[in-house]
Amino acid sequence: MILELTSEQLAFQQQAEQFAREIVAQRAAGIDKSGEFPSDVMHAAASQGLLGVTIPKAWGGAGRDYVSYALAIEAIAKASATVAVALSVSNSLVAELIAHAGRDQQRERWLRKLAGGEALGAFALSEPDAGTDAANQHTKATRAGDGYRITGRKVWVANAEEASVAIVFARTRPGLRGQGITAFLVPMDTPGIKRTARADSLGVRGLGCMDLDLDIAVTDQDVLGPVDQGFRLAMWALQGGRVAIAAQALGIGQAALDEAIAYAKQREQFGQPIASYQAIQWMLADMATELAAARLLTLKAAAAKDRQEKSTLEASMAKLAASEAAHKAADKAMQILASAGYRRGSVVERLFRDVRATEIYQGTSEAQRMIIAANVLANA
Ligand SMILES: Cc1cc2nc3c(=O)[nH]c(=O)nc-3n(C[C@H](O)[C@H](O)[C@H](O)COP(=O)(O)OP(=O)(O)OC[C@H]3O[C@@H](n4cnc5c(N)ncnc54)[C@H](O)[C@@H]3O)c2cc1C
Repeated sequence: MILELTSEQLAFQQQAEQFAREIVAQRAAGIDKSGEFPSDVMHAAASQGLLGVTIPKAWGGAGRDYVSYALAIEAIAKASATVAVALSVSNSLVAELIAHAGRDQQRERWLRKLAGGEALGAFALSEPDAGTDAANQHTKATRAGDGYRITGRKVWVANAEEASVAIVFARTRPGLRGQGITAFLVPMDTPGIKRTARADSLGVRGLGCMDLDLDIAVTDQDVLGPVDQGFRLAMWALQGGRVAIAAQALGIGQAALDEAIAYAKQREQFGQPIASYQAIQWMLADMATELAAARLLTLKAAAAKDRQEKSTLEASMAKLAASEAAHKAADKAMQILASAGYRRGSVVERLFRDVRATEIYQGTSEAQRMIIAANVLANA
């Protein structure tokens, strides 16, 4: 088994790290404080090929592999968790799904723009009564003329504030749950979309999360993939999305570790740097080890996607391990910095708030454990 990155993967990682350092990091505190969607940073990210990372060059993307994508998301998340997840939603949940399931006419209309950064994508699956139980869709699509009328309410739609297109999931066959849901490509300027509540959140602030009230007409041209098979497509997209969220969590966790190491070396108590105390060293050792283990799982899941293998289990394991390792790292960093970390506006305070979302969105940790348990029980 070869555990080395290729020269192309390393070069892209370095490019993303430089962009993160020079552009994203400068804006991170401001995005968190204002809660404003970072349109300027997203445009700059597009010019780096970060909005269509794995989309084939023929469709305007950067044509890179999933390992490279995961490395880039980790690098960006180290600077700003918000920018990393906004990128991952448009890449994994929207552009990749259109590349996977869209017709050429839909790819012409949306994929080129998404990959080039002229358009941003949103993914509208969650509803007031469809969170972990995402198949419990109440939004319905009923036949009307040569298309559908879609009515319902979507919640927590990331990027919705700026997105040009959303993949909207709606029930087309009542009572059939996952066998009766269809995916639609909905332009966000469609009459009848009301962007309602803007989520004011603990962390990943500035993600442009909105609730959407829908009463819209769409045509048959807007159906993405086969009718009634949209839930399967949502789960396909979430496999890639979970690898990206694992990478995002690693970036947050690594930033927490870096902050803790730097502080422990310079902060003196009892006449010595606190890094000389074993209590602090053990915390740093655990943080580094747990993040390194989760990084291996994340790269393994990304490599499985590159081999086009079914990677549901790998993606869930990566997300679970990385989000929990990063949560623990942020918690320990807070302990090491103590009052300096607890102060409003400190980097560790922001990381501590941001990391929590990685255990919630794109499937909670409980949902990941359900998937992993079902797999290990079925294969025993
Ligand atoms: C910042 C942010 C951004 C988001 N962005 C998007 C987006 O872009 N698009 C989108 O569609 N959604 C988005 N979401 C929604 C997100 O996917 C859901 O919040 C998530 O799936 C959990 O659903 P819920 O919040 O309704 O929790 P619930 O499903 O109500 O769960 C509540 C608790 O019960 C547990 N639970 C539920 N069922 C079980 C079970 N069977 N066994 C054991 N425990 C269980 C859960 O793990 C959790 O601990 C976002 C959420 C956040 C916070």
